[in-house]
Amino acid sequence: MYISVDMGATKTRIASSENLTTLVKVKRFYTNKNPITQKQIISSGIDELTSGKNLDFICFGVPGVVDRQAGNFVKVPNYKEIGGKPFTTLLDQKYLGNAFVENDAALGAIGEAVLGAGKDFKRVGYLTFGTGTGGALVVKKDDGDFGYESGEPGHTIIIPGGRAAPSCNHAGCMEAYTSGHSFEALFNIKPQNCSDKDVWAKYAEYVNLGLNTLYVTWKCDVFIIGGSMALEYDLFSEFLKAPVPVVRSLTLDDAGVYGGFTLTKQILALK
Ligand SMILES: [Zn+2]
Repeated sequence: MYISVDMGATKTRIASSENLTTLVKVKRFYTNKNPITQKQIISSGIDELTSGKNLDFICFGVPGVVDRQAGNFVKVPNYKEIGGKPFTTLLDQKYLGNAFVENDAALGAIGEAVLGAGKDFKRVGYLTFGTGTGGALVVKKDDGDFGYESGEPGHTIIIPGGRAAPSCNHAGCMEAYTSGHSFEALFNIKPQNCSDKDVWAKYAEYVNLGLNTLYVTWKCDVFIIGGSMALEYDLFSEFLKAPVPVVRSLTLDDAGVYGGFTLTKQILALK
């Protein structure tokens, strides 16, 4: 049995799979702000989903940058409690020998690129707009394998000297204008309650600045919009403008767990 954990700043999903392509079970819960409690919930979730079966491998996504060599979380702007701490802060020692820890947005990107809206494209630029803004570029090879770049595209500066998101403090970064939290701070309304076209046009303008800036380095064939803001996609898609097609994520909330299984497939085949 394979397990994929996608821990976002707001929600965590744990899924099981036998074949690394389809999900057997998924557990979803709000991410607990106390890492000790969060670790306990994750462990019991993993045990419940494997339920006595042999646990083959775990892919574990976290909302930040990881240093696998040191076995540490590095920068986790929207879950600061674990920054600089070892992986065992969230994942029990007994699992670590058979686990791979990666940025959650990179996993979302892999899931969408291989199984979702990016299926027919070679270079897939994925962006997730949720609590924060993240993303990754996935490049597929002819043999079916893929490479990916997991940086911090959400912190690309789009408005020099602009507002700073409390999570990261970068003046004018993409996250400060395009995340769900920033939407609320900028427009004084929750995205799910907003039907004002002018607001959505303004929001899309910020997204466009990000897409066009990222396109210069990514040279992707498509942009995929994921994360909780993708649920409101129909309200702002008409205002999106980029050099390549922009589409909505297909697997939405499950992009990260699908990506975890897809990456596991590649990791184990390489072993
Ligand atoms: Zn930032």
